[in-house]
Amino acid sequence: MSTKRVLVLVAHADDMEFMAGGTIAKMADLGYEVREVIATNNERGTLHPEWSAAHTAEARREEARAASRVLGVHPDVEFLGYEDGRLSETPLNELREKCMRAIRKHKPDIVFTWDPHAPYEEHQDHRAVAWAATEAAAFSHFPLYHPEHRDEGLMPHYAGEKYWFAKVPRDVNKTVDISGYIDKKIDALCAHECQMEMTVMDLQVSLAASGLQIPFLAQANPKEYRPVIEAQIKAWAASVAGRALREPQGERMEYGEEFRRVRFGGVERWGREFGAELADDV
Ligand SMILES: [Zn+2]
Repeated sequence: MSTKRVLVLVAHADDMEFMAGGTIAKMADLGYEVREVIATNNERGTLHPEWSAAHTAEARREEARAASRVLGVHPDVEFLGYEDGRLSETPLNELREKCMRAIRKHKPDIVFTWDPHAPYEEHQDHRAVAWAATEAAAFSHFPLYHPEHRDEGLMPHYAGEKYWFAKVPRDVNKTVDISGYIDKKIDALCAHECQMEMTVMDLQVSLAASGLQIPFLAQANPKEYRPVIEAQIKAWAASVAGRALREPQGERMEYGEEFRRVRFGGVERWGREFGAELADDV
């Protein structure tokens, strides 16, 4: 199988790791070249009261680079520099131009991003990047969309495969077996110290409000977050694997990640009608 190029367009430093870390590690292992573009500076992603926004942004850039090394993503992670938590204030067309520029620059075969059609997404940054990246991937091969890119040597490019992820996914049609990559996913997430501390503290706030007794979580030290993150990610990935098995042609797997995937604008469906089947990458 030929080497493919993959581009991940996300809002925050840890989005890729949470939503697709196992799949990305698996593709990197196949020799695919993976690039990541992060829209915001992630500067609200800490609970340290003494940290400035600039300090937090730099710490989180370093964490993103460390996590990308774990997964095998190209070390030159690109940051678009927008303010964390306010991405929807950026005009959609401006953000879409940035995403289209990245697609034309890196020429991916496969684009990963948040699903704009998934319900219940509370984070405006996820919603904003989802629409911008999805629209960019739909029109980046149209030469009269941002024709000024051509002056910089950026040519129209068609990214044929799209993998969308969501916290509450809709119309899942691809579950990737990440059983061999779950530890890499957890390692990559654990490179995000600021965010993982926050995740544990967030879980503890929810636990306290629930009145449930889970001493493992209640007594966890957020600074020693790994066991909690490991338990959380394994439980989630195992439930995804369980859902996949209930599908008509579901495979048995220990851990999974799930996506809504469209390949070649529906030509994949045509192919099946004419007896031509596309091979799966992962
Ligand atoms: Zn995020």
